[in-house]
Amino acid sequence: MRIGALALQGGWAAHLAAVRALGHTGVPVRTADELAACDGLILPGGESTTHLRLIERFALREALDAFMATDRPVLATCAGLILSAREVLGPSQPSFGWLDVTVTRNAWGRQVHSFEAVADGTDLALMFIRAPRITRVGPGVEITHTFEGEPVAVRQGRFFGMAFHPELTGDRRLHAAAFPV
Ligand code: GLN
Repeated sequence: MRIGALALQGGWAAHLAAVRALGHTGVPVRTADELAACDGLILPGGESTTHLRLIERFALREALDAFMATDRPVLATCAGLILSAREVLGPSQPSFGWLDVTVTRNAWGRQVHSFEAVADGTDLALMFIRAPRITRVGPGVEITHTFEGEPVAVRQGRFFGMAFHPELTGDRRLHAAAFPV
């Protein structure tokens, strides 16, 4: 598959390395045409307020909405999850609403409190970097991983959202789940 990573800001390069390691073609996405050519999309971590500004500046909002209206798979991490959420709190900010969850920003701790953990009942390592908490999950959203009983990874059809950074651990299972080889 040809997997794009939104490459306006943040941790897109490590995601491309992850999907390439799985055998996919990984491409940075900065224009509507580049996006339309992809079979799947990654919305990386970074700073969601900066992402919002750059999506407007690069005039990508319509193209992203159009992409999400197809059934192509999406993997959204951390700031990407915040952009995708139906509702953002702590403080509230605009978002695109592709994924029916509410998130509270920076609620797993600030940068100095970034930490590594393991998902409940699994050996999946979780890297949290000023991570959002998923504080509400809509009826069509499945919780795939929890930490201390709280959802940290969810799935709504082919849309995978996670509060942590799977691209930083060397574990490719979540990328493989989103983008089957
Ligand atoms: N705290 C950042 C935000 O609110 C997200 C951090 C991250 O993506 N690692 O956008």
